[in-house]
Amino acid sequence: MRRRHATHDNARRVERNVVWATRLRAATIVRMSFQLFGLPVSRGIAIGRAVLVASSRIDVAHYYVSEEEVEGEIDRLRAARDRVASELSAMQSDLPAEAPTELSALLDVHLMLLHDDTLTGATKQWIRERHYNAEWALSAQLEVLARQFDEMEDEYLRERKADLEQVVERLLAVLSRGEEGVSPRDAMAGKRDANVGDPLVLVANDISPADMMQWKGGVFLGFVTDVGGKNSHTAIVARSMDIPAVVGAREASRLIRQDDWLIIDGDAGIVVVDPTPAVVDEYRAIKAERDLDRAGLARLRHLPAVTLDGEAVELLANIEQPGDARAALEAGAVGIGLFRSEFLFMNRSGDLPGEDEQFEAYRTAVQAMHGLPVTIRTVDVGADKALDRMSANELRHEHALNPALGLRAIRWSLSEPAMFRQQLRAILRAAAFGKVRILIPMVAHMSEIRQTLDAMARARQQLDDAGRAYGQVEFGAMVEVPAAALMLPAFLRHFDFVSIGTNDLIQYTLAIDRADEAVAHLYNPWHPAVLQLIARAIASARAAGKGVSVCGEMAGDPVFTELLLGMGLRCFSMHPSQIVDVKQRVLATDTRCWAAWIDKVLDSDDPERECGLAAEAIRSAFIHSSAAAPSLAAVTQ
Ligand code: PEP
Ligand code: MG
Repeated sequence: MRRRHATHDNARRVERNVVWATRLRAATIVRMSFQLFGLPVSRGIAIGRAVLVASSRIDVAHYYVSEEEVEGEIDRLRAARDRVASELSAMQSDLPAEAPTELSALLDVHLMLLHDDTLTGATKQWIRERHYNAEWALSAQLEVLARQFDEMEDEYLRERKADLEQVVERLLAVLSRGEEGVSPRDAMAGKRDANVGDPLVLVANDISPADMMQWKGGVFLGFVTDVGGKNSHTAIVARSMDIPAVVGAREASRLIRQDDWLIIDGDAGIVVVDPTPAVVDEYRAIKAERDLDRAGLARLRHLPAVTLDGEAVELLANIEQPGDARAALEAGAVGIGLFRSEFLFMNRSGDLPGEDEQFEAYRTAVQAMHGLPVTIRTVDVGADKALDRMSANELRHEHALNPALGLRAIRWSLSEPAMFRQQLRAILRAAAFGKVRILIPMVAHMSEIRQTLDAMARARQQLDDAGRAYGQVEFGAMVEVPAAALMLPAFLRHFDFVSIGTNDLIQYTLAIDRADEAVAHLYNPWHPAVLQLIARAIASARAAGKGVSVCGEMAGDPVFTELLLGMGLRCFSMHPSQIVDVKQRVLATDTRCWAAWIDKVLDSDDPERECGLAAEAIRSAFIHSSAAAPSLAAVTQ
């Protein structure tokens, strides 16, 4: 009886499988232009075809193959398909007699999917027409088919999507075994000059900061994600790449289809899907105008940043990798204010960089800066910055209920003392080659300072014992939690300088997860509590005669430049691409005028409005002052 039912079910399944194949082939989609709205996180306009990548497959290799390599790439795909087919057939013939008949039927479905033209045939088209590598072509076609399955009314057919994904996973696994001699990891950042097709933009539900790093210098001209906040680390990496990006666009990866043309407006947070030619022309004109403005601003790059009243201001760069030091110098940075060392610890298959590898990385950055200061922040992993997916620490973080409040930054380092000392030794050794400052992230407790100082002393002792050369370093703390801002006078007894991390200071003051788009509207740098803590931290550091900078995203946003100058800040650290915009503001600011407004701004329950009033009042005072007017005009032209 049971057997008869099973046979009947199998027949139904086969019939339905034929139906799905027919429907998939018949699926043609009529599209109309529409817009999606998200958070603007990295300025500029990108126009390109959408490459949809499922978050789980985001580390699939994406690179172009040349015209001559196309047939070879198709052979790779064919070989992978034959390998998977023989694996599946072997599994089928090895099934024990007592195995449920459904298992064999399932393997039939997988074989059928594998040989269906909508999968392998269409994948070949991506390779032939777009010159995508086999893995990229496969995942592109999977996204196309997955959408079509999602839209099927029949539940049984809809559920076949999971089978399709399993088949593709098998194919990808065979391809990634590297029998073809290409390591996908090495190839994945295929360079843009190898671009033989249309410009491309990436669309995903989510992208981790580590994955974002992989795309640096790669084929994508812009990014759109469904989730994410304006100051998530993914957004920060996108900004550091100076590539237009919109995050928190909610349904983007569901509504956009593989290969759609998109316009990403990273200034407005708008994504135009399937734009009409007139809209494309309009955006091209806006882009050309903005590029021209930026080219004009570039002339300020090597001008000293001095305010109208003669205050010298240091504009430093935030970097993620030693290679970014070049961009920092080219942008006119007078040092590195934040080297996020944790990026050296990401995108590795399980291992972490040892002392020598870290030392080489730090020394490269130090030497590239030719004597200018390099501030190396000790590793800040945890929260939205995860290590490699498979590492034990990562797993630990994934299971944390509230990772932003968990074992992050200095807490993580102190929980891994050997690793921490290894990093400190590497930084101390690099200090023999230039001016180095060590920055400790997320300090909140006096005990953390004591333990860090002990770790530094032990690291120095170990270097002495080993007879290794090392240099002097300045010792600084990030002010990222309200406790640190409030305790600063006491903390400052132990530090040479502090750097205010406004990204986290906002997150921890307002209890807003900076990576969560659902509460992004409450993540507000203008909140009076945030501004009061920043002003207080700057005042405490100045009173103690210690250096103070801001290295969070507020430092690179020209909207806050005058306000921070008015609070007494003279050192800003930001993405290299933001330096000229901030410098333009610095050159046009009289710090005395702004200092006179600060109490009013801080007392106000609407500081943003108060700042607008201050700006207007200061501007009109300048216009009526014949002495100041010419210099103001000169810097704002
Ligand atoms: C900050 O919190 O402002 C900061 C600079 O650190 P990160 O963005 O890396 O957390
Ligand atoms: Mg931080």
